Amino acid sequence: MTPFDYSRAASAADALRLAGQSGAMLLGGGTNLVDLMRKGVERPTRLVDVTGLSREIAETPEGGVTIGAAARNSAVAAHPLIRAHYPMLSRAILAGASAQIRNMATVGGNLMQRTRCAYFADAAGSRCNKREPGSGCDALGGFTRYHAILGASEACVATHPSDMCVALAALDAQVKVLGAEGERTVPIVEFYRAPDDRPDIETVLTPGETIVALELPPSSVAARFAYRKVRDRASYAFALVSVAAGVELRNGRIEAVRIALGGVAPRPWRAFKAEAALRGEAPTAEAFAAAAEAELAGAAPLPGKRV
Ligand SMILES: Cc1cc2nc3c(=O)[nH]c(=O)nc-3n(C[C@H](O)[C@H](O)[C@H](O)COP(=O)(O)OP(=O)(O)OC[C@H]3O[C@@H](n4cnc5c(N)ncnc54)[C@H](O)[C@@H]3O)c2cc1C
Ligand code: SF4
Repeated sequence: MTPFDYSRAASAADALRLAGQSGAMLLGGGTNLVDLMRKGVERPTRLVDVTGLSREIAETPEGGVTIGAAARNSAVAAHPLIRAHYPMLSRAILAGASAQIRNMATVGGNLMQRTRCAYFADAAGSRCNKREPGSGCDALGGFTRYHAILGASEACVATHPSDMCVALAALDAQVKVLGAEGERTVPIVEFYRAPDDRPDIETVLTPGETIVALELPPSSVAARFAYRKVRDRASYAFALVSVAAGVELRNGRIEAVRIALGGVAPRPWRAFKAEAALRGEAPTAEAFAAAAEAELAGAAPLPGKRV
C-alpha cells in the first residue's frame, strides 16, 4: 500500500480545504476505498476523514427529509422518518452488504463507491479503461455477468453497484455538494456521467467537491412501493438486477409512478420510458410487461448476463 497521511475534517469547509491538497481522497467508512488501496487500484497520499461531517437526519420545511453525508447506512435504514416516509429506501439499504458494513458505510461513500467489475479491481493483471483511460477493457469478451446492458459505452460496461442509490433515483433525491465555488444541489439522476470514452470520470463532481447531504422531496409514491433484488446468494452479494418502484393510483389508473433499476447500468437507472408507458394505464400484468419492453428496447445484452 502507498504510504499516506491521515487527517480528520472538523467541518465541510475543513474537508474542502484538506481535499484540495495534492493526492488527497475523502474517507468515509472506508469499506470500499481501503479495499481498493490494498489492491493498488487507488493510491491516495492523503486521506481526509469526513465521518465528522453532519450525520443529521431531519424533516425539511417542505415535508421532505435531509440526510447528512456522514450518516451511516444502518442509521438511515433504521431512522423513524425514513421508515415512515421512505420505506423503499430502508429496504434498499438493508438489501445491501452486511450489518457490519452498513454500520461503517456512510451515505457519501455509498454514492461514490466504485464498480465491482473484477477487471477493475485486478490492478496487477487486467486492462481497464476506468483505471487507466485508453488502456483497454478486459471485461469485453470476458466475464460479464454483473455488467451493464443499458447506458454502457464501447470503453466500459461496468455497473454502479449500490442498492441505496437505486431507491434514491426512484425517490428523486437531490445531492448537496460543497466546492470551491460554494454549495450546489444536483438531482441524483444527473449526478452520474455516462461512461463514453472517459469511464474514469464517474460523476459531475469537480475535483475537491464534497458531498455534504442528501435531500429527499416529499413522495407521492412512497406508500405503494417495492424494492426487489436478484442476486447469486441470498445475502452479501451485489445485484444482478434490482428494481425500486412506487406507484400512486387514482380511480383504478396509475397517476404517478417511479421506477429505477440497479445492477444493469453504469448509474442507478431511472426507467423513464417504462414510467411514461404506465402513466394513465390500469395496473395490469399486460401494462407492466409493455412498460418493461419499452424500457428494455434499447438494451444491449452481454453474453454473460443471465438472471
Ligand atoms: C463485502 C462487501 C459487500 C457489499 N455488498 C453491497 C451490496 O450488496 N450493495 C451495496 O449497495 N453495497 C455493497 N457494498 C458496498 C458498500 O455499500 C460500500 O462499500 C459503502 O457504501 C461505501 O461507503 P463508505 O462510507 O465505506 O465509503 P468509503 O470506502 O470511505 O469511500 C468510497 C468512495 O467515496 C468517496 N467519498 C466518501 N465520502 C465522500 C463524500 N462525503 N463526498 C465525496 N466523496 C466521498 C471516497 O473518496 C471513495 O472514493 C459491499 C461492500 C463490501 C465490502
Ligand atoms: S468494464 Fe469498465 S471497469 Fe470493467 S474492465 Fe472494462 S473498463 Fe474497466
